[in-house]
Amino acid sequence: MHGYGGVEQLFYEEADEPRLIEPDDVIVKLKAAAINHIDIWNRMGATGIVVPMPHILGADGAGVVLESGQKVANVKVGDSVCLYPLTGCGQCEFCREGNENLCTNQKITGVTVSGGYAEFIKAPASHATRIPDAVSSVQAAPLQR
Ligand SMILES: [Zn+2]
Repeated sequence: MHGYGGVEQLFYEEADEPRLIEPDDVIVKLKAAAINHIDIWNRMGATGIVVPMPHILGADGAGVVLESGQKVANVKVGDSVCLYPLTGCGQCEFCREGNENLCTNQKITGVTVSGGYAEFIKAPASHATRIPDAVSSVQAAPLQR
């Protein structure tokens, strides 16, 4: 999106591909994206979170692991996965208790970092969950963990 507002702010265009930098990240080739209510709120500017424009929306998605960092053990290249959108700071009391959804310094895919309305996405491998062969990417896109 190039600004806050209605669907007229959404554009289909080329963007830089994410690069694998961290050893515990994965690059996923997305096959499906879900529309989460936070995508709509973010497009409208209703989250109160200011993002640099242009911005790639998309909190929820599913696809295939294309690249995997050296420390990744839970998924491998070629696995079909769905992605969890929240990343806590890892330091606060909520994160230490396993409640990163309550973290006040969380990153949210598609809101504070580039999202899944794209061909490729970089994500922490810990947020990638392998999906069974019987579940399609379209079915898995809105699922999390
Ligand atoms: Zn935290």
